[in-house]
Amino acid sequence: MKKTLVLKVSPVRPKIEVIRVAARIIQNGGLVAFPTETVYGLGVDALNPKAVKAMFKAKKRPPDNPPIIHVADKNDVYMLAKKVPKEAEKLMEAFWPGPLTVILERSKLVPDVTVAGLSTVAIRMPRHKVALALIRESKTPIAAPSANLAGRPSPTTAEHVLKDLNGRIDMVLDGGPTRIGVESTVIDLTVKPPQILRPGGTTYEKLVKVLKKVELHPVAVADKKVKILWARSPGVKHRHYAPRAKLILVEGQRKEKVVEKIQELADKFMREGKKTGVLATDETAGGYRADVVKSLGSRRNLRTVAKRLFLCLREFDEDKVEVILAEGVPLKGLGLAVMNRLRKASGYTIVKADED
Ligand code: AMP
Ligand code: MG
Repeated sequence: MKKTLVLKVSPVRPKIEVIRVAARIIQNGGLVAFPTETVYGLGVDALNPKAVKAMFKAKKRPPDNPPIIHVADKNDVYMLAKKVPKEAEKLMEAFWPGPLTVILERSKLVPDVTVAGLSTVAIRMPRHKVALALIRESKTPIAAPSANLAGRPSPTTAEHVLKDLNGRIDMVLDGGPTRIGVESTVIDLTVKPPQILRPGGTTYEKLVKVLKKVELHPVAVADKKVKILWARSPGVKHRHYAPRAKLILVEGQRKEKVVEKIQELADKFMREGKKTGVLATDETAGGYRADVVKSLGSRRNLRTVAKRLFLCLREFDEDKVEVILAEGVPLKGLGLAVMNRLRKASGYTIVKADED
């Protein structure tokens, strides 16, 4: 067990002395969790293979699932990537700093472990003062996956990070809750047309406006387990975002049908003596009978829904709920990212409410 140092830092005006403590740890090959606008990241020096290995171990992350490399300066992209196509430059111009990760051919500078032996590299520039200051002070690109134990819901507060990683990492920079709450969108620019491998904080609708043609990879929108022979984004094949409870996702076009189905299932599980939770929305939460009912926010405000998603999943664990019945949300805007996380968290246990 290590002693994990926790220092509070202002998300709007981070004190440089605090950032320097963290940067020194990164430079010495240590592990520092820090806030970004999406979720908390677990940062290490991306160019130090030993540090990257230690990060995989601390998170218990399968070694075939590479992290995203975070930069504070666009010029670093030209060091980390072999080629930077025009589309990448357009996207960087339009969305950086922000929740968009680009996949490019990697350069020789990037160690094998950092990219899990792939020929490509994932890069993004976060829109968060603490993250940017930390990268600048560390004077190196920072490899950072989400700062949770592999498979668990991503952390949106420093408390979540500590719950999973206290004693396993050197430091947490506590900059308060994150703004967006779901991870970045991952887009592959090594194929034509560019392909979204993971929906996230930058919506498909916004990307289409800049690129004209963008595809959604089948796994990004799958509502069944897709058999992947060759995964371009290895992360997609692992179980993800899962609370300890069994999660069942109920999807449907008509809200009333979804509510009816969830109540029917809740009654069944409660009769079996299982502690049952419902993950609802403001429009529906009042109508359920269950042991615990939580609302993600209004269905009309998917930003709030995204922001609260992982927090609610973790709260169900605190409440020792055994089954969670979750309402699906519309598959547009941030809803695409939310549904991708919920579908994975359910292990694709999905009930279609419209089909009976
Ligand atoms: P996380 O940092 O936990 O949000 O996970 C990073 C995500 O980026 C995972 O889904 C990875 O599979 C994906 N990723 C990282 N590097 C690459 C790459 N070179 N090609 C495709 N996907 C990648
Ligand atoms: Mg993750």
